[in-house]
Amino acid sequence: MTQTDVGIETLDEFRARARTWIRANLAPADPAAHIGVLRKETSDDDELAAVDHNRALQRAMFDAGLAGVSIPREYGGQGLTPAHQRVLNDELAGFEYPARLQAPTFVPCAAVLLDFGTEEQKKQHIPAILRGEELWMQMLSEPSGGSDVAGAVTTAVRDGDDWILNGSKIWTTGAWWSDWALCLARTNWDVPKHRGLTVFMVPLKAEGIEVHRIEMLSGSREFCQEFMTDVRIPDSYRIGEVDAGWNVGTRWMFHERMLLRSPYATVPAGNSRGGSRTEEVLDVARDAGRLDDPLARDLIGETETLELVKNALQQRVGQAMTTGAMNDQAASILRLMHGDVATRITTIIYEMTGAGGAAWDDDDGAVVERGTDFLMRQSFTIAGGTTEMARNTISERVLGMPRERSHDPNVAFRDVPRGAPAGG
Ligand SMILES: Cc1cc2nc3c(=O)[nH]c(=O)nc-3n(C[C@H](O)[C@H](O)[C@H](O)COP(=O)(O)OP(=O)(O)OC[C@H]3O[C@@H](n4cnc5c(N)ncnc54)[C@H](O)[C@@H]3O)c2cc1C
Repeated sequence: MTQTDVGIETLDEFRARARTWIRANLAPADPAAHIGVLRKETSDDDELAAVDHNRALQRAMFDAGLAGVSIPREYGGQGLTPAHQRVLNDELAGFEYPARLQAPTFVPCAAVLLDFGTEEQKKQHIPAILRGEELWMQMLSEPSGGSDVAGAVTTAVRDGDDWILNGSKIWTTGAWWSDWALCLARTNWDVPKHRGLTVFMVPLKAEGIEVHRIEMLSGSREFCQEFMTDVRIPDSYRIGEVDAGWNVGTRWMFHERMLLRSPYATVPAGNSRGGSRTEEVLDVARDAGRLDDPLARDLIGETETLELVKNALQQRVGQAMTTGAMNDQAASILRLMHGDVATRITTIIYEMTGAGGAAWDDDDGAVVERGTDFLMRQSFTIAGGTTEMARNTISERVLGMPRERSHDPNVAFRDVPRGAPAGG
């Protein structure tokens, strides 16, 4: 049953429908598919095939009435509730799902479009996202600094009905296989930095955009840097008012911090593997031959404790934000906890492997590549805004402590001293 005239599908009805479809149509999750931190991809062709498979999965879920569960029906969603989305996530545990579409396509990009897009923008893009036709990326960070988001120097200049964009964005995950991006650009240099920004939708294949790939320590080439030279886009691609991009940006970052708790993300309950990371630690302990080792058992216990506390905190803070008992900035608490826990568990797993994690053979099972994950573990505290910035937000916006000193709050942005951009 889908929605009826008399009311929406009950949670039980929805669960039964989702369970039946998932079991009939989705393959079991590949335990190795979504674990690991920016591990080296096999080949570009394999990655593109995986992206296409994700698009097809998304399309199949759309056709089955399981895409955009809590997105309004006028934009192609199911018009159900966040509780229905959680039911779907529960039922997906242990099955494949369109992982590459969740972040950042649904969260934060689709969420920002829903909050700030015009009717025309929402009707054009949200259904296309739900059908797996559009993958979106976020162009926030710049070579001259990612934490100081409001310090963006990528510039958009009005030209009749168009805007001309020039500048560079960096660390854009997956831009080389994506279709669209949300881009924060400076539209006014004569006002303080937070007041001269505007957000635009940018087609990544537009003339004037060069996407360069960055090779990381792990060998992964998923990160990109984009160079924009006289990229012309129509004013209809603007999101929100001119120079009011900071309003959009703060909400954008809120959605980004919510990520796995977002009512728009379809992610198997527990984590992308469909269970808590304790299972992953147990797999490694088994394959490293350490299941009976008391030290290893302590590490397994620590993992389970971290997972329990993280989940309870997510539940509690999420609930408090929903009822208004805590403001949206409390999402920084979840971001901080996620970063610290993910980093620690990745370290625990490496400790569990002993020497095998540093030098493995292909037939070492769950131990394979754990050394690479260890090298990349710190990215959990950087991606989506650093944990240091989360701490600042918690102290200032949640606990009401004094604001960090700033040298440029009332100065026209063009007069603020800036260092030479790095990495560009
Ligand atoms: C896996 C991954 C995926 C990413 N994906 C994307 C993406 O898709 N799109 C995108 O736009 N960006 C992306 N990023 C970039 C990410 O958002 C930035 O790296 C991050 O915001 C930090 O910016 P930065 O690297 O310029 O560090 P900086 O801002 O130069 O900071 C350097 C260090 O100083 C600290 N610091 C800076 N200012 C303060 C302050 N005021 N108080 C306390 N400490 C401070 C920071 O916390 C950090 O430790 C990604 C990063 C990673 C690791």
